[in-house]
Amino acid sequence: MKINEKILSFSDIYNDLDEISKKLYLESPEIWIDFSDKVGEQKLDEMVLFYAAKFNYLSILKYVIDNNVIDLNIPSKNKSYLSIKEHLLAVSKDYKSYDVYNYLDGDYKLSEDNTETEINKSSEVNEEKNHNDYFPVFLCPHCNTNILKSGYKVYEEISFSFSQDKSKSQELNRKRDNKVFCNNCNSNIDNVTTELLENMCSINNCKKCGKDLTKIGITEKIKMKFKEEDSKFIGDEKTYNCPSCDEELNESQKKYFNL
Ligand SMILES: [Zn+2]
Ligand SMILES: [Zn+2]
Repeated sequence: MKINEKILSFSDIYNDLDEISKKLYLESPEIWIDFSDKVGEQKLDEMVLFYAAKFNYLSILKYVIDNNVIDLNIPSKNKSYLSIKEHLLAVSKDYKSYDVYNYLDGDYKLSEDNTETEINKSSEVNEEKNHNDYFPVFLCPHCNTNILKSGYKVYEEISFSFSQDKSKSQELNRKRDNKVFCNNCNSNIDNVTTELLENMCSINNCKKCGKDLTKIGITEKIKMKFKEEDSKFIGDEKTYNCPSCDEELNESQKKYFNL
């Protein structure tokens, strides 16, 4: 779609929102419900824009900007960023969503005359990204911050009792609670342990279930496409997946393992 030609309406972006919704359904049912509710109410807030930026849906960004749906210069809910725009720039850079990145970075100007500079910018981002190859991502389900960047915390319970001999309180024991909390919004993050987060930071481990791929192996999958002319299936796309949870290996892992 030629994005710069007209002011988009909500119906123009509905299909794109729907595509994101489908991706989220597979990724995280909890976020999917939240996202679908917002789309249903036509409430395009920072959370919706976060996923538009993550999956590189420029149309949605253009829609909210052209129609003044939301002021991107207001403070982000994610305290690591000064504004929603800064947050979206960071997200689109992390996920290599260059269309969105360049659009936001170019002060929303996008015309055919500057196509060339747009292309130059993409390659700049590209190079920069290649230097620090890999940054693991685990999103807080409450505020969408990557907690591996903004931090997470655990609590330790220390018990004391009074000791008569020493006439003071003494530490009895320490117990680390295994609940993980988001540094940004302080919410408890269910279904994650510090062990899983540590595993996710290692390129050897599956990004979803945290298992060590060098121990459990990987699955090579070939998607077959039906070719009408020959009436048979031919190999089309090849992916490498975790044999335990089926998560696809990311680009850095493929490069690392020479796949
Ligand atoms: Zn959070
Ligand atoms: Zn896995």
